[in-house]
Amino acid sequence: MTLIDHYAVFGHPIKHSKSPRIHRLFAEQTGQALEYTAQDVPAEQFQRAVTTFFAEGGKGLNCTVPLKELAWSYADHKTERAQQSKAVNTLALQADGSLLGDNTDGIGLVTDLIANHGLDLSEIRILILGAGGASRGIILPLLKQAPQTLVIANRTVDKAVNLAAEFHNKGSITGCGFDDLNNRQFDLILNATSASLSGQLPPLPAGLLATGGHCYDLAYGNEPTAFVRWGLENHAAKSLDGLGMLVEQAAEAFFIWRGIRPQTQPVIELLDAERKP
Ligand code: NDP
Repeated sequence: MTLIDHYAVFGHPIKHSKSPRIHRLFAEQTGQALEYTAQDVPAEQFQRAVTTFFAEGGKGLNCTVPLKELAWSYADHKTERAQQSKAVNTLALQADGSLLGDNTDGIGLVTDLIANHGLDLSEIRILILGAGGASRGIILPLLKQAPQTLVIANRTVDKAVNLAAEFHNKGSITGCGFDDLNNRQFDLILNATSASLSGQLPPLPAGLLATGGHCYDLAYGNEPTAFVRWGLENHAAKSLDGLGMLVEQAAEAFFIWRGIRPQTQPVIELLDAERKP
């Protein structure tokens, strides 16, 4: 049994995860005594690792690639946003010993867009590129902001169409392929493909971004991603990466576990400054 509350992030690979740093900064800032570690857990070892973690007194877990769907299946009960997204990034031990599964990715993104960058998402045209786990997690929180339209475009067209269909009763949402984006315009384009990680971009037609529109890549790195560069080249008012989302989703997890909201701005600024040359 650990004497101070133990939290961790599981994933594979996990070496470069910023989560331990972020949670330790939150703990310091809020005066909370806790430890937060990172553990390399491949999918086939998830069940055993998570059972051991909580049996040894662990209080909460973050799960990242490729474990979010497994964590969803493992949770005893789930929040609405986790239920709908079919992915869990936060497990929290409850007083009765059960495990609550939540997904804080979407609220992390929306908080970064609205609170940190001053965007108003109501009545705007939003395009999400990609129909994988990240896309699934951000749809409901985005629809709750009442955009005019939400379009999901994906390389594998069926995945976008099926994903949009799952949310059809939650707002104006459609799915399509990249070819169907010709002659369309959006006020906010979110890149939720993993293409950026390999320096690639989905094929995007000229004129896709409306004048005064914004771009946001869920991925982040020490250098501007390919999509952030595309946004700048296409005159985005703001072309942002996912560092703010990362810190905001962590803050939401911290709140679920500890009941205290840490200030995110100093942490975002610190991590941002560290990646500048
Ligand atoms: P998935 O593997 O679940 O999905 C990947 C998606 O990218 C699929 O839609 C896939 O299309 C598409 N894709 C991959 N390569 C290409 C390509 N070359 N051209 C076009 N489309 C491509 O990944 P996730 O959804 O889990 O993650 C997506 C991104 O979001 C990652 O970069 C991840 O780092 C980031 N992320 C950031 C977070 C943050 O806190 N900032 C939180 C969560 C995720 P297809 O279906 O056709 O294969």
